[in-house]
Amino acid sequence: MLKQLTNRVYYMPHYSETDRPALGLICGDSFSVIVDSGNSPAHARDFLELVDKMDKPPVKFVILTHWHWDHIFGMKTMGFITISHEETKKTLEYLQTLKWDDASLDARVETGEEIEFCRDMIKREMPNRDHLELKLPELTITNKMEIDLGGVTCIVEHVGGVHAQDSSIIYVPNEKVMFLGDCIYQDFYSGEWSYDLDELVILLDKIKKYDVDTYITGHQNPQSHEEMWRFFDDLTSIGKIVDKEVSLDKAVAPFTEVRKESPTEEQLEYIQNFVNGNQKKSQK
Ligand SMILES: [Zn+2]
Repeated sequence: MLKQLTNRVYYMPHYSETDRPALGLICGDSFSVIVDSGNSPAHARDFLELVDKMDKPPVKFVILTHWHWDHIFGMKTMGFITISHEETKKTLEYLQTLKWDDASLDARVETGEEIEFCRDMIKREMPNRDHLELKLPELTITNKMEIDLGGVTCIVEHVGGVHAQDSSIIYVPNEKVMFLGDCIYQDFYSGEWSYDLDELVILLDKIKKYDVDTYITGHQNPQSHEEMWRFFDDLTSIGKIVDKEVSLDKAVAPFTEVRKESPTEEQLEYIQNFVNGNQKKSQK
């Protein structure tokens, strides 16, 4: 069964073994919509099987949060009209020109276009990709749209961020639920994993506008408003402590001074992420 989050919102939890992200289902009186299409035809089929068992109003649309493979490889199998940001569609047009066999994936890792983690996960989720077909979204947004599902609406808004410039959130006001996709995660496609404080502040301002009880992210369990903002506030504070520092050692010292304790392993990783972001900026 899909997990029920609120009266009208369900989800299939993420599965980290093959990097399957969480998928969502929002049910209106007239029709339902799906959030993200899964990382393979099999993932999409597993999700649809569970949806079929639920006897809910028929699914009309799939909304994509961003272009990364694990959110879009199930589109063709889902078979519904797909909605995305215009930049997501543009990137998908490019992805359609690529080959996904082992040799092609390995070659893209060699040139730095693809990262090892995604290559390995793609191979693990789909050992055979001979019949993988990518399709394009039929409907695109430039900034924001609202969909009335009957008795419940959802807002799709482009928020961007370092993880993927095309990232959009899906907000369900009646249920106070927000699907964040991966927008709050690091940039891992341009060298070392990184955060950028300015970009993070802009992103969080966009998220903050909405009254949310529960956040669903792509690769974690749902989090309450309190849990999510404890993390956002800590992350922002770490970014401010790191400031413009480009050396990890020099960034750890002020952290220990301000917090009166050494960073945890997780905090150390975030310090490194902001340092990496500063290094990328200084190389531009
Ligand atoms: Zn992603």
